[in-house]
Amino acid sequence: MTAFDYRDGELAAEGVALASIAARHGTPCFVYSRAAIEEAFRTFDHAFAGVPHMVCYAMKANSNLAIVNLLARLGCGFDIVSGGELARAIAAGADPARIVFSGVGKTDAEMARALELGICCFNLESASELEHLNRVAGSLGKRAPISFRVNPDVDPKTHRYISTGLKENKFGIAIGDALSLYRRAAGLPHVAVRGIDMHIGSQITALEPHCEAASKAFELVDRLSAEGIALEHIDLGGGIGIRYRDEETIAPTDYAAAIRALLGERSLKLLFEPGRMLVGNAGVLLTRVLYLKPGAERNFAIVDAAMNDLLRPALYDAWHEVCAVAPRSGPPAVWQIVGPVCESADFLAHDRVLDLAEGDLLAILSAGAYAMAMSSNYNSRPRAAELVVDGKTTHLVRLREAVEELFAHENLLP
Ligand SMILES: *Cc1c(COP(=O)(O)O)cnc(C)c1O
Repeated sequence: MTAFDYRDGELAAEGVALASIAARHGTPCFVYSRAAIEEAFRTFDHAFAGVPHMVCYAMKANSNLAIVNLLARLGCGFDIVSGGELARAIAAGADPARIVFSGVGKTDAEMARALELGICCFNLESASELEHLNRVAGSLGKRAPISFRVNPDVDPKTHRYISTGLKENKFGIAIGDALSLYRRAAGLPHVAVRGIDMHIGSQITALEPHCEAASKAFELVDRLSAEGIALEHIDLGGGIGIRYRDEETIAPTDYAAAIRALLGERSLKLLFEPGRMLVGNAGVLLTRVLYLKPGAERNFAIVDAAMNDLLRPALYDAWHEVCAVAPRSGPPAVWQIVGPVCESADFLAHDRVLDLAEGDLLAILSAGAYAMAMSSNYNSRPRAAELVVDGKTTHLVRLREAVEELFAHENLLP
């Protein structure tokens, strides 16, 4: 990752010193690099040059309007999982014709809004959802474009909380039930069968699970085609992992070569739903050391960011690199980097070897995906500010929440 690098001994985002951002905007805050986001998108998109395809950013990874808008400007589409994300995408300038709608629990109102806007496809996850959408579309005089999310029963070998393509997961329909559902859909008046969809999990660092799942989906495409149900697209989901520590990750070019080989001569448009890989390494969480609390057993560095800002360590035991913004040259100690929230699970990193002093700034790396998006107000902590650095310029893209906003919608009893 070159967007965040040391310049004259101080960590910078592109051409801006992180210390100057902290001084101006306070901590904790998220800092994203525009160049890193754009490069990640272009690298993935270019890997499929020459093949009809559409990249639909899974905006649940980071749904800040500025980031969604940056990607929309590059021609990126979007994978949404709620009416809220649909509204965000439209507010950020997304083209509805480049939106696919995933998720196991779409409501009537969400379906209706997406139909009115004319989205590209509904990725359906159950037989009931098919009947439901057919009814909603009928009541609006529309025909809903659909695909089924099939569950290929492939182990993505990632954290169990982010595996989605196993039989025991709530997602998708069993591949063995797909044929009969497609037949049923083909006979319904208010849906139009367009494609097939899958997404087997997140932070997948090996190519094999992707290929195994994709080849099962391609097989199904061929069986459907033999029955006269011709699909226009295959949506291979997201899930490509990023490097947090020292993981060997999948190069987009290798992924593209493997998928192109599986596609063969079929005239299907390819859809992808990458989330983490487009934004994960394009952001850091900037935080300040409040207190150092050395102890007989463990040394604690208490910082002003917490699990409400970055939940991944507490939720998945995730590992994030922690860097001193201005590293000191004294003897290091082993620190537990923890936040102020009243939970023992409130840690950002364990056992980091650093030379720290109170007031120091730390950057928690790879905090562009599933960080701010998963943040909360637990302990009545206002959500952090978000900034995008573009060369030498810093743009505030989300104001730090004010404490009063946290209870503005609450009422006392009479
Ligand atoms: C979360 C999600 C994605 C994106 O996953 P990443 O691991 O961030 O690439 C794509 N598709 C669906 C349906 C998802 O739920």
